[in-house]
Amino acid sequence: LAGRMWKPEGTVVRFANGVEVGGKEVVVMAGPCSVESREQIFTAAAQVKASGAKFLRGGAFKPRSSPYSFQGMGLEGLKLLREVGDATGLLIISEVMEISQIELMMPYVDVFQIGARNMQNFNLLREIGQVRKPTLLKRGIAATIEELLLSAEYILAGGNYDVMLCERGIRTFETYTRNTMDISAIPVIKTLSHLPMLGDPSHGVGRRDKVPPMARAAVAAGADGLLIEVHPNPDKAVSDGAQTLFPEQFEKLMEELRMIAPAV
Ligand code: PEP
Ligand code: MN
Repeated sequence: LAGRMWKPEGTVVRFANGVEVGGKEVVVMAGPCSVESREQIFTAAAQVKASGAKFLRGGAFKPRSSPYSFQGMGLEGLKLLREVGDATGLLIISEVMEISQIELMMPYVDVFQIGARNMQNFNLLREIGQVRKPTLLKRGIAATIEELLLSAEYILAGGNYDVMLCERGIRTFETYTRNTMDISAIPVIKTLSHLPMLGDPSHGVGRRDKVPPMARAAVAAGADGLLIEVHPNPDKAVSDGAQTLFPEQFEKLMEELRMIAPAV
């Protein structure tokens, strides 16, 4: 169901406020890695909105490598996201980590994010296939393009057709960057699949100064959108600070992107 042979024209995921992902315009989803406080998320939302983002991202449930790292604000974080989304008109995207969180999150988010670590959590994918809410599926850390498309298939097979895919870097022998952003996956997937394809240069490289060039590269390669980490004060961020843009850097990047693609 994810293949172009099944559906030659590109899928456009439409939202109630008129925003479209997979349409003519590149759509940017930006915000902190984690929701940390009311002040932090309201400030971040105002900043990314001013620069032209259409979605606010922010994790309430965080898949941290260490069990001793901050695990997210949970329900309290979801409530803050909904409140700031309603106040600003930004759409909300946040990660769902397990089946039990689906129902809980339904009223609070506009898009479910399935993280790299859960790309092959087939039970979760099946359950997401049963709901009617757009979902962003991120490529696994060591997943092939075919495996990503097969994971999308699990969701589509349940009848949830609003699936967006995301390249977020894969693990290679290179250690200079956190992951290796596979830009080539973008045009390859755009050929193989009709689903909207996004790029996440933040997790893709893991280094703040390399995020703008990889964001520009992703858009130049045909990405329908970007997922970018932005924080009012990245050096104080509780997660992924090193790869998170300062609001001024994000503003400048958005201006650069507008020279590459229509109406970012
Ligand atoms: C995130 O978006 O903050 C995240 C945890 O992403 P990934 O699943 O790609 O590591
Ligand atoms: Mn992150």
